[in-house]
Amino acid sequence: MKGRKLLMIPGPVEFDPAVMEAMGEATTSHVAPDFIEAFGQALERMRQVWLSPDGQPFVVAGSGTLAMDLAVANLVEPGDRALVINTGYFSDRMAAMLERYGAGVDHVRAPVGDRPSAEAVEAALSQADYKVVTITHVDTSTGVIADVEKWTRLSRQRGALTIVDGVCSVAGEELRQEAWGVDVALTASQKAVGVPPGLALLVAGPKAMDAFRRRRGPVANYYADWTNWLPIMEAYEARRPAYFGTPPVNLIAALNVSLGQILAEGMDARFERHHRMSRAVKAAVSALGLGQVPLRDEVAAHTLTAPRYPAGVDSALLGHVKAAGAMLAGGLHPDIKTEYFRIGHMGVTGFGDVLATIGALEQGLMAVGYDFAPGAGLAAAQALLLD
Ligand code: PMP
Repeated sequence: MKGRKLLMIPGPVEFDPAVMEAMGEATTSHVAPDFIEAFGQALERMRQVWLSPDGQPFVVAGSGTLAMDLAVANLVEPGDRALVINTGYFSDRMAAMLERYGAGVDHVRAPVGDRPSAEAVEAALSQADYKVVTITHVDTSTGVIADVEKWTRLSRQRGALTIVDGVCSVAGEELRQEAWGVDVALTASQKAVGVPPGLALLVAGPKAMDAFRRRRGPVANYYADWTNWLPIMEAYEARRPAYFGTPPVNLIAALNVSLGQILAEGMDARFERHHRMSRAVKAAVSALGLGQVPLRDEVAAHTLTAPRYPAGVDSALLGHVKAAGAMLAGGLHPDIKTEYFRIGHMGVTGFGDVLATIGALEQGLMAVGYDFAPGAGLAAAQALLLD
């Protein structure tokens, strides 16, 4: 029996061997010609993956929270007003950050497992002159997906900038930054982008860069200040070295490999593959008699599934599923933390991984004494994967 378990949590995820090989190559100088080429190419490829041909990409060492910080610190000044379209844990984090930089923050919320209606968003937008609206594309704590296209359009009509936290969406969920008018789309390397944790990634559109240039005062966060990073990104893209902070050489080499693979698959094909994996996992979970946190199919993300434990079953299930070969994640949203678990299915995760995971889930459910028809989840998933 092999010791390695499938990593099926909502990030980090399974990574491609070629990406791991790039991570393991001898570390070169950050001014070496082959690194300059890899960094420059990665920046160009980000524009294509984000579907943002006129955007400005930023790659900075850090986690997704730094990507959020890079967006907020550069666009928000004391006294600005911000609207958080709040769908859970990570929307709360965005609000805390906005407040830290001096914004007055309002929320438009929905019950756990749901998202605000377009009417509720429109009503909230009409209450103040917001500089910034933030949207969590996929709230990883609940598996709820935002209506980014519609909410961004409404925010634009009011003249607000839209920041989309796409940490659990970029390169997995359909996100068309330029066509939808999203001003900043941010993520981290360890999810659908397919690179081990350690890179904060974002693309800022022309309106966001204008707003940054028209700031009244300096950016309060030294490390996150685009004034420091913009010349670096521009230099590497022009295939010149530049220095502000030492770039994470191996991670950036790995990023370039992964972005190349993503573009070779094609964005539309990739979105469709994530939809199919999601349909298969959700059908399996339902066939096994488990509910889900998202209240309706329409509000459920495609990069993860958040099943509820059936009656009489608790988080001990996850230990048995792991023993059977797949690592899943527990609950995260504080209101329902002990009531559900999470299965990530994004990046290079394939149909075989989905089936192995459902098989392990069935083994775990059997081990905890849950009453179900063995194979029901596998059959439901396979039917959708073969379709
Ligand atoms: N936003 C969302 C939607 C996330 O899922 C996460 C991480 N799970 C973050 C932000 C924070 O990212 P990180 O843990 O890499 O700081």
